[in-house]
Amino acid sequence: MLKKIAQLEQAAAILEPSARERSSLLGQTVAYAEKFLQNLPASQAFVAADGRSKSLEQPFSEKPGDFTALLELLRDTVDSEGINAASGGQMGYIPGGGLYPSALGDFLADVFNRYAGVAFASPGAVKMEQTLVRWMADIVGYPAASGGDLTSGGSIANLTAIVTAREIMEVRARDVESSCVYVTADTHHCIDKSLRAAGLGECLKRIVPMDDGYRMNSSALQQMIEADKAAGLRSWLVVASAGTTDAGAVDPLEQIANLAEQHGLWMHVDAAYGGFFLLCDEGRAVLRGIERAHSVVLDPHKGMFLPYGSGAVLVRDVSWLARSQSYEADYMQDAKSHELEYSPADLSLELTRPFRGLRFWLPLKLFGVAPFRAALAEKICLARYFYTELAKMPGWEMGPYPQLSVATFRFVPERGSADLLNERLLEAVRKDGKVFISSTQMNGKFVLRLAVLHFRTHLDRVNYVLELLQRTALELTKAN
Ligand SMILES: *Cc1c(COP(=O)(O)O)cnc(C)c1O
Repeated sequence: MLKKIAQLEQAAAILEPSARERSSLLGQTVAYAEKFLQNLPASQAFVAADGRSKSLEQPFSEKPGDFTALLELLRDTVDSEGINAASGGQMGYIPGGGLYPSALGDFLADVFNRYAGVAFASPGAVKMEQTLVRWMADIVGYPAASGGDLTSGGSIANLTAIVTAREIMEVRARDVESSCVYVTADTHHCIDKSLRAAGLGECLKRIVPMDDGYRMNSSALQQMIEADKAAGLRSWLVVASAGTTDAGAVDPLEQIANLAEQHGLWMHVDAAYGGFFLLCDEGRAVLRGIERAHSVVLDPHKGMFLPYGSGAVLVRDVSWLARSQSYEADYMQDAKSHELEYSPADLSLELTRPFRGLRFWLPLKLFGVAPFRAALAEKICLARYFYTELAKMPGWEMGPYPQLSVATFRFVPERGSADLLNERLLEAVRKDGKVFISSTQMNGKFVLRLAVLHFRTHLDRVNYVLELLQRTALELTKAN
């Protein structure tokens, strides 16, 4: 047995590289990252898929590989096609970010692998996460009793909020079919997913009409709630968007809060896209009333420019979250917190989880809050500048003026189908690839949209899109 153990130890020894080997691996990794970042200003924001990722299908071998060759494979497969999320030209969907100190934070968190689920295991990691949650709750304007949790993203944060709402509002399985949920057609699809995952898919889903600015019409909401109540149904949840993905529109939070209060509904605000605009004056003005929500979702991997993998759910009273997530397990008896403070595992659907605090805390401490405020205000200004400039050019039909940092628009040709022309425009922008924009449907029309949220997006990129759109629209109409 001892001989066998020694042999096995030897066979597994490669799992712990020596200091010299580590230094070589790290050196090559940093060199790769440096080259990537230095090439970034000239890099494509989008490259259409051409099947090169197929070479990743090679089966895993029993034998070790060569790190240099693996980095080359990574570059040629993953890091060379599709959307370049690190590029400032990424102005489609909701852009991500990728702050460099976050990568360093992830590196360290992964090296020491502290367990951030319970305070007993890592008081420091838990305290760091709690400090970040507190900071976000303060930004939202929540009271001291509030709390929350760092999640992997906005979808899981929304799911957590919906489950909490269901538990605290005591919507039982037998109530589902007579319980009404109020959303708009522009509510993010992850709310639908969350409702289904939470066993609420058969709630009566009321699609509240929107106003000209694609915001929930609060008088329509009031009428719908009153009609449902009169019909003997239970109105229990309203989901407001603080920054819709489609138009960047913020629902009238104050009015919705008034109605929720008056009629006893849980008010959830999905601020995954727009929430961090609370850090700048332009955003704060638009988001007034958010502090009255029972629950709020923010996405640091959007508005705080972190790499993907960071969402957050906040609730006005942390005990709601604890009540909906509480658990007991014999094998966790050593870890039960003796203080009154909750650990992340008490507030989360997850138990073992990555230490998400460090990737968020490090850039915030290193850079300070001020540059984030400036960058967010810059994004709003860029979207409004884009809107104003494009509106001056002949032939462009503009959506609503950007409340935050999304602009929608389409070119209307004198002859022929506008939908077809704008589809071709989008195709041409994607082929150019220096910038990436997306499209959506508004009132049954195909429209283009520009979403500015990357910390690397500045005036030069926005001017580039303006010029590209104008030039391409002219070419396409001439060819018609
Ligand atoms: C991005 C987004 C989501 C989903 O968040 P993920 O982080 O992608 O899971 C939900 N709602 C809105 C408004 C969003 O913009």
